[in-house]
Amino acid sequence: MKVYKFGGASVKDAAGVRNLEKIVRLADAQDGLMVVVSAMGKTTNALERVVEFLDAGKEEQALNQWVDIIDYHVAIMKELGLKPGSDIRLQGEIPFDPTLPFDENYDQVVSMGELMSTQIIAVYLLKQGLSVEWWNMPKLLRTDDTWREAKVDNDTSAATIRAGWERTNRPQIVVAQGFIGGTADGKRTTLGREGSDYTAALLGNYLDAESVTIWKDVPGILNADPRIEPDTVLIPSLRYQDAVELSYSGAQIIHPKTIRPLENKQIPLFVKPFGNPTAEGSKIAADGIGPIDVPVYIWRKNQILITMRAKDFAFVLEESLSEIFEIIHRHRLKVALIQSSAVTISVCVDNTRFVPEAIDELKKHFNVTYNDHLSLLTIRGTTPEILERAKAGRTIMLSQTTRRTARLVVKE
Ligand code: ASP
Ligand code: MG
Repeated sequence: MKVYKFGGASVKDAAGVRNLEKIVRLADAQDGLMVVVSAMGKTTNALERVVEFLDAGKEEQALNQWVDIIDYHVAIMKELGLKPGSDIRLQGEIPFDPTLPFDENYDQVVSMGELMSTQIIAVYLLKQGLSVEWWNMPKLLRTDDTWREAKVDNDTSAATIRAGWERTNRPQIVVAQGFIGGTADGKRTTLGREGSDYTAALLGNYLDAESVTIWKDVPGILNADPRIEPDTVLIPSLRYQDAVELSYSGAQIIHPKTIRPLENKQIPLFVKPFGNPTAEGSKIAADGIGPIDVPVYIWRKNQILITMRAKDFAFVLEESLSEIFEIIHRHRLKVALIQSSAVTISVCVDNTRFVPEAIDELKKHFNVTYNDHLSLLTIRGTTPEILERAKAGRTIMLSQTTRRTARLVVKE
C-alpha cells in the first residue's frame, strides 16, 4: 500500500480537492491507499484565533471567526456539489470548555480543522464513485495528554490501525486526518504544528507502506527557499540523514519527526508537486545520493538567543550544562544552536510561548540576557565566497563555521 499526504495549501479550495481526486485516481490503488489530509488552507491558524479569543473572554470575536471558518468550508462543499447539513453535518458549537486549561481546549478546537477537511474530501470522493472509508484518527492514533505536542503510543496505535486496515473493503482508499490523535479517555490531541507529515510517516510505518508521498506546492526539495534566494535547484535524491539535517536546520519542507519512522522500515519518501503529479520530485531513501552537492540555504525564523553567566563567576561548565539543559528540556524549548565560552553558555532556541517561563527559571540560577527577533541561517556546502555574500548587509549576532557548514544567527 501507499500513503499520500496532502497539506493545507493543496486542499485550500474546491479546485484543490478536485486535483486531489485526480492524483488519487492516478495512484491506481490496487493494494490500498491511505490519504492523509491537513486542515484546508489557513484553517488551523483561524482556529487558533478562536481559542485565543475565547480564552481572552472575547466571545463575539470568537464566534465571528468560527462562523467565517464554517462559511469557508460550506462554500467549498457547495462548489463540490455537496449538501451541507445532509451530506456532512458541520459542528455547530465550539468545543470549548472554560473550566479546562488553555492547551487542552486548544486541542479540542484546533483538531476540528482536520475533521472538517477529511469529511468533505471523503464524501466528495465517495460521490465521484471511489471506494472510500473515512477514519477518525482521535480513536485510532493513541497519544498521551501532552496537549499541543502529544506523544504517540506506537504499540497501541499500530495494533489498532493495522486491525482497521485489515477490515477495510478492497480496493481500499482511506481518508484520515493528519496532525491529530486522541487519549485513552477519548480526548482529542494534536501532535504539534505541521504534524501531518509525521502522521503520514507513522501510518506508513505501521502498515509497511511501499512508499510515502508528500504532495506540496513546490517541485520537490529545493536547495533554498525560492521566496528568498533567486536561483534554486531541485535536489532529486537524498539520503535519510541529509533530510533529517535539512529539516532540523529549519527547512520547512518536511516535519523533523517524519524521517525516523520511515528510515526504521526503509520506506522511501517522495516530495512531489501537487500541480504536476507526474513530475519526479525528490526521493528520500536509504539508497539516496549524498552528500548533497549544491550549497543549501536553510532559514529558521523566530529565534531567541539566550546567554547565561554564572552569578558568582565560578562557572563550572559541566555542572551548569546539565542544569541548563534540564530546564530547557522541561520547558519544551527547541534548541537550534549552542555556543559556550569560559564564562557563558548561549543557546539559540525557537521563540515559542514556553520561552518566558524558561527564562524566569534560568534567572534563578544564572545571570541571563537575551536577544530576540533573530533568524538562524544554516548554509551547508558553503565556501568562503558564499559565506561572505551571505554576511553582506546583515547584522550577525553569532556565527559558527566548519569547513563545509556555516551557521549564522542574524537580526531579522
Ligand atoms: N493543520 C496543521 C497545521 O497547520 C497540521 C499540518 O498542516 O501539518 O499545523
Ligand atoms: Mg500545513
